Amino acid sequence: MIKLSALGLAFAASFSHAATVTVDCGKLLDVKAGVWRDRVSVVIEDGTIKSIIPMNTGNSAANHIDLSEYSCLPGLIDMHVHLTSETKRQGEAASDALRLNPADYAYSSVVFAERTLKAGFTTVRDLGSADGLNISLKHAIANGTILGPRMFTAGKSIATTGGHADPTNGLSQKLRDAIGTPGPVEGVISGADSARHAVRARYKDGSDLIKITATGGVLSQASSGQNAQFTDEELRAIVATAKDYGFRVAAHAHGVEGIKRALRNGIDSIEHGTYMDDEAIALFKKTGAWYVPTIAAGKFVAEKSALPDYYSPVVRPKAAAIGPLIQATFAKAYKAGVKIAFGTDAGVFPHGENAKEFVYMVEAGMPALEAIRAATLSAAQLLDQAHRLGSIEAGYAGDIVAVTGDPLKNIALLQQIKFVMKEGAVIVKP
Ligand SMILES: [Zn+2]
Repeated sequence: MIKLSALGLAFAASFSHAATVTVDCGKLLDVKAGVWRDRVSVVIEDGTIKSIIPMNTGNSAANHIDLSEYSCLPGLIDMHVHLTSETKRQGEAASDALRLNPADYAYSSVVFAERTLKAGFTTVRDLGSADGLNISLKHAIANGTILGPRMFTAGKSIATTGGHADPTNGLSQKLRDAIGTPGPVEGVISGADSARHAVRARYKDGSDLIKITATGGVLSQASSGQNAQFTDEELRAIVATAKDYGFRVAAHAHGVEGIKRALRNGIDSIEHGTYMDDEAIALFKKTGAWYVPTIAAGKFVAEKSALPDYYSPVVRPKAAAIGPLIQATFAKAYKAGVKIAFGTDAGVFPHGENAKEFVYMVEAGMPALEAIRAATLSAAQLLDQAHRLGSIEAGYAGDIVAVTGDPLKNIALLQQIKFVMKEGAVIVKP
């Protein structure tokens, strides 16, 4: 109640909002049954869906939103974003890193969060930022200070020394001496003890889950984009400690050895998964781990790698080699029956363009309905929120988006979201 009235105060001038609101949908996608329901009204009370009834059958006193010409879907969920940064030429990004303070990045992230929400993504999983920015951003959104998607956040990604997400990679010795060697509190580990320490530090920070960088990555200033960077012992320590605190573990991984090690040690999701082979696919199926593809990020870095100066000489060949492969990996994983949750790595490409991923998924052979399920039902499962997010039904959060036309016939329509409601509050009016 308090949360809703705070939102109401902030946006009363431009957004309709009331304790009870009825959304009249010309069509509504029942994602579980996989069918459109015609002319129904969704009754939302205090941010939660109360009932779904045939249109024009009561609730005359309620505040109605007329979407009779639109197709309604559950709010979309992106399982891999970085809301506190956005792609830039690396020369510029490096100069930013020398001049800017955390507050400068925090102000930019306000814009990225709002853009993401207005693109129809009512929930995101943020997989890593520096300085606790993603945790503060989550709080600012949750308490109604700023507009943005509901966030689940990893806080700082956990890396090994010199690995992907070690913030001192690529710096001169002088700078590294000045900064000091990052340790588990800063999210950089070496050995099982510091792995446990790093997980506990995330708990102390207020993270919702753990993210590790199980292999090299494209955008770090280090030579390999695919070497395995955690030992089995370190992975075991991470996963066991995470379990103690109720954390799920997401693993960034391109190279096949790192993918397999992470899967064998019980991580919950593999991000990117670029070089997975048949044995890795069998491990996914055996363990029930999720695959979060991020095709959109792969396409973007591949495209930018063709420019002479967008990425540094260390990053450019990795972007050119790894980027173009992800869509084919996705196609293979989908055909083999690997569980897939929608995720883009937005931030590696401009925020708000997340829905491009749907187009790439369908292009690679996934039916449109399955792609939408990956961004609703499946994503909610990976978040442990399947009871509250990812579907329009009684008891679920009032997260609704709408488009004109039928996205099951033309998935690209999801790139033109016409209406967004989050927890019963109208964010984008039709
Ligand atoms: Zn990422």
